[in-house]
Amino acid sequence: MTRLFGVIGSPIGHSLSPAMHSAAFKALKMDAVYSPFDVPPAHLRPMLRALVLSGVEGLNVTVPLKEAILPLLDAVDPAAKAIGAVNTVVVRNHRTTGYNTDIIGFHRALVEDTGFDPRGKRILVVGAGGAAKAVACALLRLEPAGIGITDRINAKARQLAKLLLRLARAGSWCPPRGMAASGCAAIPWRPRMSNVLEGVDLLVNATPVGMKPADPTPIELAGLRREAVVYDLIYHRKTKLIQQARLRGCVASGGLPMLLYQGAESFRLWTRRRPPIAVMRRALERAVKFKSQK
Ligand code: NAP
Repeated sequence: MTRLFGVIGSPIGHSLSPAMHSAAFKALKMDAVYSPFDVPPAHLRPMLRALVLSGVEGLNVTVPLKEAILPLLDAVDPAAKAIGAVNTVVVRNHRTTGYNTDIIGFHRALVEDTGFDPRGKRILVVGAGGAAKAVACALLRLEPAGIGITDRINAKARQLAKLLLRLARAGSWCPPRGMAASGCAAIPWRPRMSNVLEGVDLLVNATPVGMKPADPTPIELAGLRREAVVYDLIYHRKTKLIQQARLRGCVASGGLPMLLYQGAESFRLWTRRRPPIAVMRRALERAVKFKSQK
């Protein structure tokens, strides 16, 4: 019987996951389909139940359902529970378990693709939403000297900094010799933050600013040193942030590798098979090109 997988969210037409996972199934000659399902928050409970009853084996979960789905699952992996967001659901014997593969996705994209080692480094994350949480928690495990969070709503940045402090103090999340808990802080939002950027080794954009062609950079880059690395989670195009960072001489990466590695980890969890990374990467690159021409 054809195995069923998919992605739920709303809107969902923009998702590149169907292209990536369909290519992986084809490459491994698996009889499986991966479909996008437009699920508004009000329909999440009945739609999840319907998908499970119809035999779905795995789901990706995207905006705006990543937090709302937690209480509807039978079990949640500790890392996803700690950050309060699920982007992957595994279904076995009609039992649902939630995971957050954005954490490992960002970790692998940063360390393997850019070669950046966060140990002892100073990091600024712009944004304090779901993706920022996964990014900051991935970084916390890699023993940076400090993580600053800045968000238009300072209370959200403070909340995320508090979560990082809690995880750092709990001891189970990051190595005991890791960053001093005092190294997590909310940085008041300003469009121009040159005094902060002067001391930053890694700048991460975890806001949607840059998704539209006319978008500016989320913050001005004045002060950023050429040795700094910039990671923009946006994967739809080469954003102004990437362009301007490269003009300053910085190494800068878009979010496609993170999307790839989070998808690869979801694939591994669902199928217990080694994901065909090269095939998935090519499918994503093709899908981005196709969507940008539309
Ligand atoms: P989210 O939970 O809605 O959070 C969005 C964050 O961006 C919030 O902190 C929000 O700030 C901030 N923001 C929104 N509009 C802004 C603006 N005009 N100026 C400044 N800040 C703004 O979304 P998310 O799930 O974290 O996703 C954020 C981005 O990451 C999206 O573009 C998404 O596509 C991308 N993403 C990429 C990957 C990948 O694999 N590459 C994975 C996950 C997400 P407020 O609190 O002030 O509203």
